[in-house]
Amino acid sequence: MHAEIDVEIDRQSDANKTRLLREADQTTVVFPCKVCGKIYIRKSSMYTHLRLCGQEPKYTCVLCGKKFKYKHRLQSHLTSNVHMPRPR
Ligand SMILES: [Zn+2]
Ligand SMILES: [Zn+2]
Repeated sequence: MHAEIDVEIDRQSDANKTRLLREADQTTVVFPCKVCGKIYIRKSSMYTHLRLCGQEPKYTCVLCGKKFKYKHRLQSHLTSNVHMPRPR
């Protein structure tokens, strides 16, 4: 199960990347994805990402057609406010 690593990668924003770069400055070892340039401070995270990098998202929301690379992202999309508005 690599779900936790996937979550970590998925949440990587530009701001987070900047933070990672700054942290990486201190450790001097970073692992950039050779395909898209995303930077990881853990080699295992980079390789997990690399498996999916450049691939078409294979999980499609049957309700709105939105595509997701990760199953858990589709699942959270399906249970999010988009399709399940909270009752007032
Ligand atoms: Zn990549
Ligand atoms: Zn949807």
